[in-house]
Amino acid sequence: MSAPARIPLSRPSITESEIALVNDAVRHGWGERCYDYIHQFEQAFAQHIGVRHAIATSSCTGALHMGLAALGVGPGDEVILADTNWVASVAPILYLGAKPILVDVLPDTWCLDPAAVRAALTPRTKAIMAVHLYGNLCAMDELLCLCEEKGIALIEDAAEAIGSIYHGQRAGAMGTFGAFSFHGSKTLSTGEGGMFVTDDTPLYKHVLSLSNHGRVAGQQRQFWPEMLGFKYKMSNLQAALGVGQLQRTGELVARKREIFHRYQKAFGNIEGVTMNPEPPGITIGAWMPTIVMAPQTEVSAEKMLQAFKLANIDARPFFAPLSTLPWMACSAHGAWAQDLYRRAVNLPSFHDMTEAEIDRVCNVVMRTILNKNISP
Ligand SMILES: *Cc1c(COP(=O)(O)O)cnc(C)c1O
Repeated sequence: MSAPARIPLSRPSITESEIALVNDAVRHGWGERCYDYIHQFEQAFAQHIGVRHAIATSSCTGALHMGLAALGVGPGDEVILADTNWVASVAPILYLGAKPILVDVLPDTWCLDPAAVRAALTPRTKAIMAVHLYGNLCAMDELLCLCEEKGIALIEDAAEAIGSIYHGQRAGAMGTFGAFSFHGSKTLSTGEGGMFVTDDTPLYKHVLSLSNHGRVAGQQRQFWPEMLGFKYKMSNLQAALGVGQLQRTGELVARKREIFHRYQKAFGNIEGVTMNPEPPGITIGAWMPTIVMAPQTEVSAEKMLQAFKLANIDARPFFAPLSTLPWMACSAHGAWAQDLYRRAVNLPSFHDMTEAEIDRVCNVVMRTILNKNISP
């Protein structure tokens, strides 16, 4: 029997409507029209998220870097974030010479634990970075209260949280600023790309200047940077793709949720398997459906990943705690972060997955947990 076709973890969904927009951008989006799609994407995105301002960037990492720089984060400052994270969230803190303080996550949302955040506060704490991991939502009420009480900034890394809504507010719209990613693995994609969003007009103006190599809007003198800035811009071609993707955002998020619900239903009856939580008042965008195996299943992440590999399915390991990176020079503070890494696995969820492909993924999980002999 030949091996079944490979099931990838993620892949963007691109239709003729996006292709037509990119075609238009590449044919006509030059000269005086070279910013048209960028401005259109920024305006439509700000409206979608429910914020005043948006700045398209070349990546989410760049958006975070500029936002943190505009807040004045630098040497001597501390920024608190969860130990369980992708390196892109912590890298901009380190670029600026500030110190990341890694705290443990909650066992159900896998996002930072507000009690651990409170315990980690010092007079040097400049900001808290709330990363909505895998599209799950951070405990925003507690974190917002804490930040208000201490007069510090709350940053939302919403790269994975398109379509996630916290009591009526979209992820990315609640903090001092939010950052999004349109990397090829994300729910909306421009290949590479990101977005900075905020309601704070002075902060927006500052980041806009930073994003333009430090040139201030309205400056008459040409080629005159007033400060050291960055070059993290999105191209008009990418923005055309973004405009097309954003027009389909409802459909794209709905499909992610549909795949998540298919998994949830399939694993609902298996004791010891839990997935991304969706408590009352919260809707998740379900960017990355993830299973956590309880210890009594006696199935580790390693064992599950091996079963997926044999079935030619690209499931992925949960993010390793950042504190375990040898160069991070940060002591481990995450008991749950350590534990989840050993027990959790990301499942494939690209929009164009077929029912048969979803069934293949479900069968691997069930077979491995129940130790039944269902053929691949
Ligand atoms: C993907 C991702 C990033 C990085 O996005 P880029 O656009 O690749 O810079 C940052 N944070 C989180 C949580 C992500 O998932």
